[in-house]
Amino acid sequence: MPRFHSINIVSGCTPLHPICKGDIKTQVYNGRKISKKYIWLASNYTKNLNVVQMEEKFDAIIVGAGAAGLGAAYRLAKNGFNVVVLERGQRIGAKNVYGGRIYSHVFEKEIPEFTKEAPVERWVKKERLTFMNESDAVSLELFSSDQSSFIAILSKFNEWLGKKVEEAGGLVIPGFKVDDLIIEDGAVKGIVAGEEKLYSDVVIDAEGINPILAMKAGLRGDWKPNQVAVGVKEVIKLSEEKINDLFDLNEGEGMANLFLGYPTKYGLGGGFLYTNKDTISLGIVVRIDSAIAKQIAVYDIVEDFRLHPFIARILKEGSPIEYSAHLVPEGYHVPSKLAANGILLAGDVAGFVLNRGLTIRGVDLAFLSGLLAAETVKEAHEAKDFSETTLKAYESKLRNSIVINELEAFKKASTLLSNLRFYETYPQLVCEVLKEAYTIGENSQKIYPILREKMKGRISLLTLIRDLISAVRNL
Ligand SMILES: Cc1cc2nc3c(=O)[nH]c(=O)nc-3n(C[C@H](O)[C@H](O)[C@H](O)COP(=O)(O)OP(=O)(O)OC[C@H]3O[C@@H](n4cnc5c(N)ncnc54)[C@H](O)[C@@H]3O)c2cc1C
Repeated sequence: MPRFHSINIVSGCTPLHPICKGDIKTQVYNGRKISKKYIWLASNYTKNLNVVQMEEKFDAIIVGAGAAGLGAAYRLAKNGFNVVVLERGQRIGAKNVYGGRIYSHVFEKEIPEFTKEAPVERWVKKERLTFMNESDAVSLELFSSDQSSFIAILSKFNEWLGKKVEEAGGLVIPGFKVDDLIIEDGAVKGIVAGEEKLYSDVVIDAEGINPILAMKAGLRGDWKPNQVAVGVKEVIKLSEEKINDLFDLNEGEGMANLFLGYPTKYGLGGGFLYTNKDTISLGIVVRIDSAIAKQIAVYDIVEDFRLHPFIARILKEGSPIEYSAHLVPEGYHVPSKLAANGILLAGDVAGFVLNRGLTIRGVDLAFLSGLLAAETVKEAHEAKDFSETTLKAYESKLRNSIVINELEAFKKASTLLSNLRFYETYPQLVCEVLKEAYTIGENSQKIYPILREKMKGRISLLTLIRDLISAVRNL
């Protein structure tokens, strides 16, 4: 059972800074005299002031309140462990940015009340892939009555996960930046935040894409420009009815639209558009090395994308209300070790993002890796051994799960997705060929001669066939 003690003492109190920490020897609240060392936090959810008495040591400290950290905390708290999640953002979700859609399988399995409670904007019923050049667009669309993914605002979704952790008895402290790890005798023993030191049996590092602590633990190096992409996103306000009309959707139905070609100025990456309930998420993701090589100003091109005739006509009544940017792992770059004495890596810090070209998955894999990290901690607790020898079981759990299985299965997809022709040549070719085929003039031509004409000086037939076969085989 949790060893810390939490007392709700004031309702609707004067808001305090989320954390006032310090060595307070004695404090009196509601007639109760509290001594020892305290962290006070004003919960962002309840607006109550909680006074939390910190014990000497936690069972687990989790760094980062993203899907990975909250998944780990939820499973541990449910099992009665004394767990704390430390998040540098001033509220849960404040630092979390993504495109727009989450695959629901792991959440439905882990959280029984998921379907009733989760802040789902819309369930994805339409998938669309659009090839785009400067002026035109060609789309392939799938409508399916089945649903396996939903569109959500990640900050709201993580905030909800945070509530589930608290309901399960875990503690989530926003506004708390971890600066360093406590490493004694070659093992991680806790964390350092400013002048504060907190101890635990194990630290689950779910710090996301910036692997500062993981590098300190010697578990991984920094990302290289070809291993990471930058995403820029705008949120555009439109009414729910307008969105339903524009995309031919019924109430609660959503569309996920990925784009290739012009949105990234033909660099490695893509554009995305997701229909939230009464907003649209529109953005681009470009691999860093490609942005450098093509001298793409990533912050400008999302504006050009919004002004493209295909998008501008859809969003002409919308107004941008939010702008954000974030990095995301690209390709298969999972570190060779995911556990060391007293520490485990979960989520983006471990490279658990799968981009198959048609779909991008990170949130479900992050959450699942958090659950598996929690399971490993449970076993280590039973064995009373938090050394690498015991924690290494985490790596086989990941290998036996969809996390590493799927990443391995689509390893070749990431090589294929490094082929610039899929971003540069093919989107332009598809648009040009179809435009000409649909344009009736004096000398209408069949598709094949148009294709051969457009391919001249750009690509050979053999290369095109090879790429096509490779795409069908690996994506
Ligand atoms: C543009 C873009 C589009 C994407 N689209 C999708 C999509 O549509 N679907 C999908 O499933 N995935 C998508 N992803 C990937 C997905 O967002 C991530 O894989 C997932 O959110 C990772 O979760 P995480 O918990 O590992 O990391 P994060 O969500 O990044 O959480 C890490 C947390 O740790 C905190 N933190 C970091 N350092 C410290 C510290 N020192 N002390 C305290 N706290 C710290 C951060 O503030 C942050 O809140 C996208 C990503 C991007 C960038």
